[in-house]
Amino acid sequence: MVDTQLRRRGIRDERVLRAMGEIPREEFVPAELRVMSYRDDPVPLGHGQTISQPYMTALMAQELELTGAETVLEVGAGSGYAAAVLGALARVVISIDIVPAMAQLARENLRRTARDANVTVLEGDGSLGCAGWAPFDAISVAAGAPDVPAALLDQLRDPGRMVIPVGPREDQELRVVRKAGGRVESRISTLCRFVPLRGGEGWS
Ligand code: SAH
Repeated sequence: MVDTQLRRRGIRDERVLRAMGEIPREEFVPAELRVMSYRDDPVPLGHGQTISQPYMTALMAQELELTGAETVLEVGAGSGYAAAVLGALARVVISIDIVPAMAQLARENLRRTARDANVTVLEGDGSLGCAGWAPFDAISVAAGAPDVPAALLDQLRDPGRMVIPVGPREDQELRVVRKAGGRVESRISTLCRFVPLRGGEGWS
């Protein structure tokens, strides 16, 4: 997976490549779908949700340019896999999911793989961020938003970076939003397709 799906497609951050080589993705995939663990595809998690394709998880982590010192917010814990990857790259990760069963699944998977030391999973509407832990050096949103939620932009530190899929329900662009010196800039990293972000600043 690391060589054929990530390195070959331009993932260059060695810390991301190492983390994804070390974290057992099969432990985050539903038992009956284990054969899909290292495929170049998203994997269904139930409740209409999916674990992103490995390349997308790697690209999002790479775009955040983490050094190991950051406090990171992930919106959309799902299986907990991306949270585990972010946990290997940053100091602290808060991952929030609006579906209680998903938060529970992420917590169990992170505990079983001993990746929970610096990763905390919360239940709640992450489209409103997580004010109690803000500001965040980096924010990764794992569900497609109609626009960049104002609360997330507010809770992003200066300097800070956010990756977020933005666009219509079915097709989005992965935006990399950078806050620095009081200014906010954004660029498009790639086209993508995520499940919809729900909640107050998501899709109703
Ligand atoms: N990062 C996950 C995949 C996330 S799938 C992984 O690696 O497995 C998207 C997740 O976003 C789903 O679990 C869904 O319940 C969650 N979600 C959707 N809207 C949300 C919101 N407003 N706040 C928090 N989580 C949300």
